Amino acid sequence: MDDSLFVFQKGFNFSQDGPGNRLVYHLSGCNMICPWCSNPEGMKKEDYSQKYSLSEIFDEIISCKMMFFDNGGVTFTGGEVSLQATALSRLIKNLKDAGIHTCIETNASLKDTEKLIPLVDYMIADFKSPDKELLKAVTGGNLEIIKQNIIKRVELNKPLLIRIPLINNFNTGQKNAELFSEFFRTLYKKSESKEIYAEILTYHEFGKDKYKNLNLSYSFNDGFVSSEQVNLLKSELLKNDVKIIKT
Ligand code: SF4
Repeated sequence: MDDSLFVFQKGFNFSQDGPGNRLVYHLSGCNMICPWCSNPEGMKKEDYSQKYSLSEIFDEIISCKMMFFDNGGVTFTGGEVSLQATALSRLIKNLKDAGIHTCIETNASLKDTEKLIPLVDYMIADFKSPDKELLKAVTGGNLEIIKQNIIKRVELNKPLLIRIPLINNFNTGQKNAELFSEFFRTLYKKSESKEIYAEILTYHEFGKDKYKNLNLSYSFNDGFVSSEQVNLLKSELLKNDVKIIKT
């Protein structure tokens, strides 16, 4: 039985990884290859990770219960959480039974994400590009699976935050803004609760130094976006009644 998780980082964070104060576990390994990834040390499961039994993690989380103020709890992020979906779903079920608020952050591009979607109280999903071919070529992600997973969550009427990392030379401009908005329109039509939020994350290079330290080359250039590029997407989303939040 799968009774352990590989983790490359853990610690508390307030509000950016779900509601309130949260204990955040970064699970090792990712199926995608985004060239701007700020956690290159977490992309391969075998590197930089430590193996913990589910009971070790469960006990640690329970011992931190007092710290989960402002509706906080525990968040599992990555890498990509769905690569360890079987073990993680067992842990999340136990945490729910113990009254802990649970959240995942996912790239949503694996079929296995569907094991986690109905279990968590809050879900954060990336939606990096509405262009199927470009997404595949640049990140290795499968747009159809991403859309299916996001729709599955929406159909459950449970809270969902969709994050768009806005990146020059990748997903900016009018056409992309319209395609992002069109997808949100589809989602709002499918949902009764309307608890679907969008957040625009602008390109940064916070992880760039890590590449040097790991002897990897950082291959993405000119990704920074202007305020005009941000405003274009923002106004297109607002025009379509998308609820934009900033965490
Ligand atoms: S999906 Fe996230 S963790 Fe995976 S490579 Fe892309 S940015 Fe990095």
